[in-house]
Amino acid sequence: MKLARNIIIALIAGVIVGLALNLFAPNVFGPVDTYLFGPLGTIFLNLMKMLVVPVVFVSIVLGTVGIGDPKKLGRIGGKTLGFFLITTAVAIVIALALALVLKPGAAGDFDTAGITYEATEAPPVMDTLLGIIPTNPVTAMAEGNMLQIIFFAALIGFGIAMLGKKVERVKEVLEQANDLIMYLITFVMKFAPYGAFGLIASAVGSQGFDAIRAMGMYMGVVLGALLIHSLVVYGGAVSLIGKRNPIWFFKNFFPAQVVAFSTASSAATLPVSMKMAQDRLKVPESISSFTQSLGATINMDGTAIMQGAAVVFIAQAFGIELSMGQLVIVVLTAVLASIGTAAVPGAGLIMLAMVLTSVGLPVEGIALVLGVDRLLDMVRTAVNITGDAACAVVVSQSEGVLGEPDGEAVPTDTETA
Ligand code: ASP
Repeated sequence: MKLARNIIIALIAGVIVGLALNLFAPNVFGPVDTYLFGPLGTIFLNLMKMLVVPVVFVSIVLGTVGIGDPKKLGRIGGKTLGFFLITTAVAIVIALALALVLKPGAAGDFDTAGITYEATEAPPVMDTLLGIIPTNPVTAMAEGNMLQIIFFAALIGFGIAMLGKKVERVKEVLEQANDLIMYLITFVMKFAPYGAFGLIASAVGSQGFDAIRAMGMYMGVVLGALLIHSLVVYGGAVSLIGKRNPIWFFKNFFPAQVVAFSTASSAATLPVSMKMAQDRLKVPESISSFTQSLGATINMDGTAIMQGAAVVFIAQAFGIELSMGQLVIVVLTAVLASIGTAAVPGAGLIMLAMVLTSVGLPVEGIALVLGVDRLLDMVRTAVNITGDAACAVVVSQSEGVLGEPDGEAVPTDTETA
């Protein structure tokens, strides 16, 4: 908890310093940032990113070996995907409902006539899903293609489980590698307060506050939906199915949320979120590795919430009425869009173009929400990874392998089953 405390102090200090520079010395901020806050944040971000591919590969191999039985693996996979899809759909419905009731787009006079926005080509979601089999695993790792790495690692794990004693040495090496990587995560996390300070100071310092004033209502809707979703859906699932106190859940997962908040990247936060889930939430490594690395890639409820709220906001700003049929299409495409969103800063906005197009809204509308997206991105990324952890707790409990809250971390589920 000392780490959590230090990160919170860093967070507050980052906000104060960023805000002060933004308000009193906005011109100084640019050059100062180039040499100070930016690099501090980048060093931490790179240290974290450095560990993502090794941790995903090794822990998924060992996770598959731990689960062993392909049928059980399929069952866990089914539960995980079911949780992801249902919670994401619920997230969008919450966002749509809140935006329809509070009407953020009707709250101000938004200049929709002169805006332009060059939409980046969004990668087709189907291509991403079909491209899950890597033709070259080394390329997959070099490019950090998470779904391909997961697939390859699971296959290797399956092979090790099947061959048993014959490849015992390979398994041993991977187990030691896993210990090593987990140690490195703990080591890198010592730098988290400094990194978080740099990232937050930089984000707050370079934020245009006029945009925030004008977009207050939209931000309120997105933040409100994120809060409701976290407390009701995750809190509810953890308590009802996971049989754990939601306060305990949020408190123990908090350091990962802060890292997600400061980095705005689910992928960069993955090593920490897995470690927190395993060490503190007592999720077995076999389940944590699957649900969380898959979740960081395809389960983004926070992103879906932003996309749902943004669609309604843009429609209202342009004075376009959305029919019930169109709202249903928004739910469906936003589920797909959030699945296809890359786990890096700002990616959710790129995929928003796909949702807007699906109901015939102008993609130029993205320009309206662009100015405030960075701050929202930070919060929604924290929500994105919380959903993965909630899923890990729920699935572990349903498999009867969730460790006791104050017990030891559970290394593999075979030891407790
Ligand atoms: N930054 C988000 C994440 O990494 C994705 C997004 O919504 O832009 O989870």
